[in-house]
Amino acid sequence: MKRLVTSLALAASLTAFSATGVLAADGPSSDDLLKSATNTEAVLTYGMGPQAQRFSPLTDLNADTVKKLVPVWSFSFGGEKQRGQEAQPIIYDGTIYVTGSYSRLYAVDARTGHKKWEYNHRLPDGIMPCCDVVNRGAAIYKDKIYFATLDARLVALNRETGKVVWNKKLQEYKEGYSNTAAPLIIDGKIITGNSGGEFGVIGMVEARDAETGELVWQRPTIEGNMGTLNGKDSTVTGKTNASWPGDMYKTGGGATWLGGTYDPETKTLFFGTGNPAPWNSHLRPGDNLYTSSTLAINPDNGEIKWHYQTTPHDGWDFDGVNEFVSFDLKKDGKVVKAGGKADRNGFFYVIDRTNGKLINASPFVTKITWAKGIDIETGRPIYIDDNRPGAPTEGGGEGKGKSVFAAPAFLGAKNWMPMAYNPQTELFYVPANEWGMDIWNEPITYKKGAAYLGAGFTIKPLYDDYIGALRAVDPKTGKIVWEYKNPAPLWGGVLTTAGNLVFTGTPEGYLKAFDAKSGQEVWKFQTGSGVVGSPVTWKMDGEQYVAVVSGWGGAVPLWGGDVAKLVKDINQGGSLWVFKLPKA
Ligand code: CA
Repeated sequence: MKRLVTSLALAASLTAFSATGVLAADGPSSDDLLKSATNTEAVLTYGMGPQAQRFSPLTDLNADTVKKLVPVWSFSFGGEKQRGQEAQPIIYDGTIYVTGSYSRLYAVDARTGHKKWEYNHRLPDGIMPCCDVVNRGAAIYKDKIYFATLDARLVALNRETGKVVWNKKLQEYKEGYSNTAAPLIIDGKIITGNSGGEFGVIGMVEARDAETGELVWQRPTIEGNMGTLNGKDSTVTGKTNASWPGDMYKTGGGATWLGGTYDPETKTLFFGTGNPAPWNSHLRPGDNLYTSSTLAINPDNGEIKWHYQTTPHDGWDFDGVNEFVSFDLKKDGKVVKAGGKADRNGFFYVIDRTNGKLINASPFVTKITWAKGIDIETGRPIYIDDNRPGAPTEGGGEGKGKSVFAAPAFLGAKNWMPMAYNPQTELFYVPANEWGMDIWNEPITYKKGAAYLGAGFTIKPLYDDYIGALRAVDPKTGKIVWEYKNPAPLWGGVLTTAGNLVFTGTPEGYLKAFDAKSGQEVWKFQTGSGVVGSPVTWKMDGEQYVAVVSGWGGAVPLWGGDVAKLVKDINQGGSLWVFKLPKA
């Protein structure tokens, strides 16, 4: 009896300690997820906290001690399935949960690299991922681990056994829908976006009960489409035909393919939306709301609180999906509840996250051809009309419109790869790329399940010596404080720490660390394949660890034009690398 009492007391003390980092046996609660940014003994959410600052308060590892950071083990994803490995690991209670290409999920012992279980999602033949067979990560909540799949399904597994608890269809993959983003879990609801903007799908944000998978609400991102709440129609998005002609809003794109972030202070979800469909902008006069935008959404009912459109009437595939990262902007003695977004269109936006009003916008790449700047009063771009690709009807032959050289290229000044914000240096660390493209329009009609672009393109580098540039951006001024230039395009996520460090990977195979204030490179390790995943850090058994996945792929080899030729010799792979700073 005494023994039982003792173990009960121990269990109670473990539960009681959950807020300070020692985690309860029944798994992370909603509160644990909301506070995950300050929990240094776990990585419970994609983005290392719902706001997605990707900042760790840990300081053991710092710009001085990082030279002692050493590999502990590496885990192979195995099989013949390689391609892009863009995942961010989730770390909980001595286990690493990591997703791999082709919709795979692994549970691995964080201390040894021993595989606990593996889930291989059975994919149908007809899936249509536009931009490689990637997955960006899982979500954890209570006893389950979740991820979304390339056939547009959402799967919940028991995190101890890897057994499927439920498996729900999100959308119809035969129409071009797919899913690659990490889900977000807020107050017991699992929230997902969708992919497929190149197939004329309708962008969607959806919330489900995380226990059962039952739908709670849906919010289409294109005006004129009806949302749902608790199984009934709720409200139409926007005002039908206010910014779209005729029936084009029914196939209008706006995919929310990168998933969202959440700000506990304002209780708001932020989802970016992709390009309007088709790419040929002359077919759809108007702003084409709410494509290429950030949407602020009420997590309780899916209603839109505000929107900010970064590229109205987009004609360059400037998907506005880039993550909106909440942070406190300290300026002129005041603290403003702000959000930062490094948009695919080349501008870094600082926006008041309580109302969507623009605070400032500045270029974070050297060449932008489509706009002169952003009007601070209206928040709208000042277009350079001559640099929009021409209408096919005005091309003077073969149905092809006037070709223009545009920068950034459609793969973006920044693509999917997440930036980080460090509240100590008060800088954003943005993985950017310097490239442009020849782009022209062609005639197109919508056909279900077929590519819906009406455009042709070839991506080209702008400079001989580099394409990728990791840039430290000061959100107060928009100024670039330092930069690191990389020969190949950067395609991996960024991590920053209170130890004055910034980590990111390179296609050349390195995980690299930089001094967060000066930008000086202070450490690197060759992983054997390109690093296009997002690194994380945590503390275990009194030592600080770092993990990252390695495995070259993603959109660049598939769509990169002349740049794809430059990186064709990089070897594929698929492995999880874990490093630690050994105790002194
Ligand atoms: Ca797109």
